[in-house]
Amino acid sequence: MKEYVCIICPRGCHLAVDEENDYAVTGNGCLRGAAYGREEAMHPTRIVTSSVRVRSRIHPRCPVKTDKAIAKSDIMKAMLLLDDVELSPPVRRGDVVIASLFGGEANFIATRDIDE
Ligand code: SF4
Repeated sequence: MKEYVCIICPRGCHLAVDEENDYAVTGNGCLRGAAYGREEAMHPTRIVTSSVRVRSRIHPRCPVKTDKAIAKSDIMKAMLLLDDVELSPPVRRGDVVIASLFGGEANFIATRDIDE
């Protein structure tokens, strides 16, 4: 049995997911929570936020995030890829910093403008 707090809405239901019973979910206040609990137990994913270096004396770091959730097990590998990135201004919010992480659909994108 795995236990989670549902983060889909502020109610924060305490979910229990029974892996030995077809990932049956209890404790959920609605169906969205059941889906969340099942997904969290079977394929947990996260949006990843971090920052990368910028060739700028004013803004030496630029915040970035993945534009889609990636597998929780890939987070550390994804963060290591950012160590090799150095952006040159101008940077625009939404610019792709690393495309197609691990050959998938998620990209790291910049989340602020840096002009110089
Ligand atoms: S299970 Fe439903 S009601 Fe409970 S926190 Fe999740 S979304 Fe909200």
